[in-house]
Amino acid sequence: MSTLQRRSWAEPFKIKAVEPLKMTTRAERESYIAEAGYNTFLLRSRDVYIDLLTDSGTNAMSDYQWAGMMMGDEAYAGSENYYRLEKAVQDFYGYKYLVPTHQGRGAENIISQILIKKGQYVPGNMYFTTTRLHQELSGGTFVDVIIDEAHDSQSTHPFKGNVDLKKFESLIARAGAENIAYITIGATVNMAGGQPIAMENLRAVHALASRHGIKVVLDATRAMENAFFIKKREAGYADKSIKDILREMCSYSDAATMSGKKDLLVNIGGFLALNDYDVFEEARNMVVVYEGLHTYGGLAGRDMEAMARGIEEACQLDHLQARIGQVEYVGNRLLELGIPIVKPIGGHAIFLDAKQFYPQLEQTKFPAQTLAAELYLESGIRAMERGIVSAGRNKETGDHYFPKLELVRLTFPRRVYTQAHCDVTVESVYEVWQNRSKVKGLTMVYEPKYLRFFQARFEKL
Ligand SMILES: *Cc1c(COP(=O)(O)O)cnc(C)c1O
Repeated sequence: MSTLQRRSWAEPFKIKAVEPLKMTTRAERESYIAEAGYNTFLLRSRDVYIDLLTDSGTNAMSDYQWAGMMMGDEAYAGSENYYRLEKAVQDFYGYKYLVPTHQGRGAENIISQILIKKGQYVPGNMYFTTTRLHQELSGGTFVDVIIDEAHDSQSTHPFKGNVDLKKFESLIARAGAENIAYITIGATVNMAGGQPIAMENLRAVHALASRHGIKVVLDATRAMENAFFIKKREAGYADKSIKDILREMCSYSDAATMSGKKDLLVNIGGFLALNDYDVFEEARNMVVVYEGLHTYGGLAGRDMEAMARGIEEACQLDHLQARIGQVEYVGNRLLELGIPIVKPIGGHAIFLDAKQFYPQLEQTKFPAQTLAAELYLESGIRAMERGIVSAGRNKETGDHYFPKLELVRLTFPRRVYTQAHCDVTVESVYEVWQNRSKVKGLTMVYEPKYLRFFQARFEKL
């Protein structure tokens, strides 16, 4: 008799509103991608079937959040929704003070300007694009202190987001604690593939930083997803709630920047959260210059309400199980088919290794750009290049940077796609993998000066 393997979880929601998707033919997609210069950023969304470009602001809100949208108190000052959001941040994250911002980078701008003096260093567990840019614009120099395993796509270390304490300590010894503005801790680490940091490591980072009077600023954008990995992987946390784990994580930091467009299940919104009253005072002064009054920070009252309600929902274990479980499901199916992806499978995305798809292509033929275009051609799925195009050029020599990793990111929006969409995605990637030997690569015919991956154009070789 065969034994039935029971599923332990399914999506903890049912669908009440749908958005129809357009199916296209291969001939149509050939003309759309050529028109877009073989750059998925330049496709029109209406021509995309399954959109895995990013998980930022692309989440589906719940009926509870939509109901909250009708409860927007759109007063210029002292909106009721601000106080609701403040209470949720205090309750779930544990910080004392809240400054809302229009999205994550608004918070990064403010904290960087307040805490960084020109010439100071800002260490972090791998960079994030907007975070580092704001640190540099404030006169700081970013220093990567993540463990080496984070840069190795095949390392299966369970906490590839960990800080290498020796690297951090030697920076303190070399530069002097007074020349370090603060340390930024990403949780999870986006650029490493959505890899978590362990509680034990975070605690040690905080202890070391505190001994030297250095502040810890948490990038809490996907901190709830990080808390889920701690619960699953770290000894002593299996029986703790996500909320308790999140509170403990935040207790090892002095402030947090937040993009609500990720963890918090909204389409727009962010905040800066702080414990130090003096820094809060300054941040409140600055938010008026860049975002809006300190009780709305560039958001409508309804957006703050949706985010406050999103905090409650995002912290639910069954939500995180389904969210991270979906990414894991796709990753495991791809691994079973022998398709090369970055390991371990991260919290929000799967990264395909384009160098292994196309060993026949030199990096200057843009393997990852090619793979993203091929995937769109195959089935209308939109992914993102993370390779030589994204890396850009060295300002001094004018040469391309040649990054070690040539990846295509399949990023999953929260609560948006079904398991059937996931299966179609896996089948499409497999089809592209089967046809890999025929592919000849691309040549760049237009290159913008900054952040070229957004708008560069290519032709087929
Ligand atoms: C998206 C993101 C940000 C920036 O937030 P925005 O809301 O896009 O401005 C910062 N840090 C991380 C880790 C992110 O993923």
